[in-house]
Amino acid sequence: MSPMIKKIEQFRKALLIVIIIIVTILVVWRFFRLPAQYFQALDVSFVDITDYYDDRTFACTMSWDDFFANTRNFEDMFGMLNSYDLTYTMGVITEHAEIRWSDIQDAFDWAQRNGTKANTPYLMELGSHSKDHSFPTGWDNATAYDQIWGSAMEIKGNITLDGSFWAMNRTEYVLAWIEPWGQYSAYTRKACGDYYYLTDRDTFGGLSETYWKLWDSEYGSYEVWGAYYDADRVSNLTLKNGFDWCYINRRIFNIYGHPNNAKHVWDNPKSHTADWIKYISGNTSCWYAHHGTLYSYHFIETNQSGALWIKALENNEFQITVNSTAHKLYGLSYPVTYKFNIPSACSTANVYYRHRQRGNWIKLPTKTPADFFNGIAACRFDFNNSKVYISIGFSDISDDIYLKITGKCSSVNQMGPAYKCSNLVVSAVAGAFPSRAPRRGRNETSTQNKGE
Ligand SMILES: [Zn+2]
Repeated sequence: MSPMIKKIEQFRKALLIVIIIIVTILVVWRFFRLPAQYFQALDVSFVDITDYYDDRTFACTMSWDDFFANTRNFEDMFGMLNSYDLTYTMGVITEHAEIRWSDIQDAFDWAQRNGTKANTPYLMELGSHSKDHSFPTGWDNATAYDQIWGSAMEIKGNITLDGSFWAMNRTEYVLAWIEPWGQYSAYTRKACGDYYYLTDRDTFGGLSETYWKLWDSEYGSYEVWGAYYDADRVSNLTLKNGFDWCYINRRIFNIYGHPNNAKHVWDNPKSHTADWIKYISGNTSCWYAHHGTLYSYHFIETNQSGALWIKALENNEFQITVNSTAHKLYGLSYPVTYKFNIPSACSTANVYYRHRQRGNWIKLPTKTPADFFNGIAACRFDFNNSKVYISIGFSDISDDIYLKITGKCSSVNQMGPAYKCSNLVVSAVAGAFPSRAPRRGRNETSTQNKGE
């Protein structure tokens, strides 16, 4: 090989190496620089916690009494509720003569399997309906504790609630008390608060029972909550109209009934029950939740007992911290929706979270208004109004949630002062949330509709 050809060969090799280096740099730039842009946290500002999960228009909850085994009527009812992805709270009589705990576990697990498919985990909540369904007005202080505290211990001792909204680390929770005979007294109220039930469901009905109850500081629990109507006794039309009324008035459709009541089946055939149950299902403007999870959400939303802190960190990240004692007492794993302003003119954006400051960032699934989902960790962007709704609960590994919102916004560097939030400013502190008075509708009625 002549020296000239050798030089040309060397030159060609050098040129090839230079081209490979340039291509490599371009590839690296393409795949590493772009994500860096996407991962840059946007300059956002916290607005508030929405009244209902995912800023839904209204809510739906239902409770069914006298559960002790999967009798035919209960199986029928669960089949309907599960097939329509409805959430419900079962009032368990824990020392019923014919109680079958394995049936209750099966029903709980069945509801979980169905709910997971519909992005609405744990359709069934287990609440307590006392040990023996005796008359609460006849209970003395010790009996009230035994019935109210003891029945919750029996549910937790016999049912595995691991991984659900009603378990954190090794602690399990029963958050809903369903009064037998729709009766309560100062003794039962005190036992409910001392045991840390969040709700106390009575049986009086009417439209006034379709909104949040206030915190009862005397007993350390929410006020006694009636139900809109006893589903065993009113017509399908009444129930459908009630659901529509709650939608229009942004209320909570709160229904109770008795699947094992023979009257329920004879007077109100299953096809009729299925009719109204189908009618109230699958509404993407509606938040479907249980008594306990509704009030777990409300507890955070109203910053009850100064339970919550939200602050802007450096790098446009946010830290949400829950009062450690409240976290242990109630679990509070049910997702709560935090509303943020985002920059205008965003085309794509994502939300990342972690529960420890040095943990890995995890991307939240993004949902749209057309998606059906309840009680899952998710985010929903409203680019037209420059908002994001971030739904996330507290975990068992810390009292904190860290958030950052990344995205591609043409206005990211030209934002007006309204979007600027200085570092380390506490956006919301204990007690800073406005308390909301119940929204009262016109033509309010309150029918006494005592049931059992
Ligand atoms: Zn009952």
